[in-house]
Amino acid sequence: MEKLDVIVLGAGAAGLFCAIEAARRGRRVRVVDHAKAAGEKIRISGGGRCNFTNLEIKPERFLSRNPRFALSALKRYTQWDFIARMDEWGIAWHEKTLGQLFCDGPATQVVEALTRDLARAGGELWLGCAVEGVESEAGGGFAVTTARGVLRCASLVVATGGKSIPKMGATGFGYRLAEQFGLPVVETRPGLVPLTFAEQELVWMKPLAGLSIDGRVRHGRTEFAEGMLFTHRGLSGPAILQLSSYWREGEAIAMDVSLGRDVAAFLRAARAQGPKLALRTALAGLVPERLARHLETVIAPSGPLGTLSNAALEQVAEVLRNWRLVPVGSEGYRTAEVTLGGVDTDALDARSLQAKGLPGLYFVGEVVDVTGWLGGYNFQWAWSSGWAAGQAV
Ligand code: FAD
Repeated sequence: MEKLDVIVLGAGAAGLFCAIEAARRGRRVRVVDHAKAAGEKIRISGGGRCNFTNLEIKPERFLSRNPRFALSALKRYTQWDFIARMDEWGIAWHEKTLGQLFCDGPATQVVEALTRDLARAGGELWLGCAVEGVESEAGGGFAVTTARGVLRCASLVVATGGKSIPKMGATGFGYRLAEQFGLPVVETRPGLVPLTFAEQELVWMKPLAGLSIDGRVRHGRTEFAEGMLFTHRGLSGPAILQLSSYWREGEAIAMDVSLGRDVAAFLRAARAQGPKLALRTALAGLVPERLARHLETVIAPSGPLGTLSNAALEQVAEVLRNWRLVPVGSEGYRTAEVTLGGVDTDALDARSLQAKGLPGLYFVGEVVDVTGWLGGYNFQWAWSSGWAAGQAV
């Protein structure tokens, strides 16, 4: 039976990065993935341009039962370290917005650089190879049963990602493996995902599909202002995707489409100028016309502006500032960019990502209960956690 120092399960961002580091340290490393190609999520990420990190990496931009857990790895291998790696690779990049860094060219450059570095460091990559099972061995180490035979290793790194986009090879395998070894798994759910609405809401939402609006969206004390988009199933756009990671079924979200303007004063001025003006016509000066037409139907005191009292105009302003909607669900793992929850951080050592009490077993990347905001945070977690385990295996 072939014996390696390190087997990495999953050739995504975290697995490849970990394997490169381990191989550079002289370990005999093999990465095993059932997909036909490595780094498929990197390839499709950021609309094909890979938002590979963010300038503003902060612990509060990660969701976890223990948000401080990620700090150790994020501080040891930072966004600046990965930017330096991109420069070493000669991959051109730019800041788009909100500290989000994207490749100038195709994201495949990042995958090519990672697989090249792995090969140069002497690491091996087995693609199209299913992993059937893992057992710990009596004298230490692990036996991994793959479609190409049983492999033995001293260290096993689980980098099999989350459940998002099953069409691309996501399996939830890492969670099952954690449970097999008695490690707790925080309940998983789709994150960074469009929200869906009941039929009665879709009656007015569907005609707005494709309309993007500026504003803020709030859930409790969490608020995002990065643009929203009506879809045939409900709402999407960056602000909604961000909020979806915090939203739970049955809860309302509140949209503020006033953009900080004094809506009541705007409407009072419009009324003084044209008392016969329809409310929707006046509202179209504030929000897209298609939305103005719908908002008029939501707002009880409807009619020409001249018939509306100051109090009624205040009510209209309040609807624009605090428009409450109750999603019925989300589009689920089919379109979610990430999986929330995962291997409980309490069971892992923050510095090395090794499972406590299980020498040689490591979990890195999305399979761990650390999920970033939209904007490059998830890849930074993959690089940082992969790097940290790569130093320890
Ligand atoms: P993955 O990249 O998911 O890799 C896991 C690997 O394990 C896969 O190759 C899979 O085939 C393999 N695997 C799974 N099960 C098995 C098994 N049983 N046996 C063998 N192999 C297995 N994040 C950002 O920061 N910036 C972005 O721009 C961005 N864009 C995204 C766009 C989309 C459409 C999606 C879906 C996600 C995006 N993300 C982005 C999130 C980011 O892609 C993930 O957080 C990141 O890829 C996680 O890396 P990982 O290595 O942990 O897992």
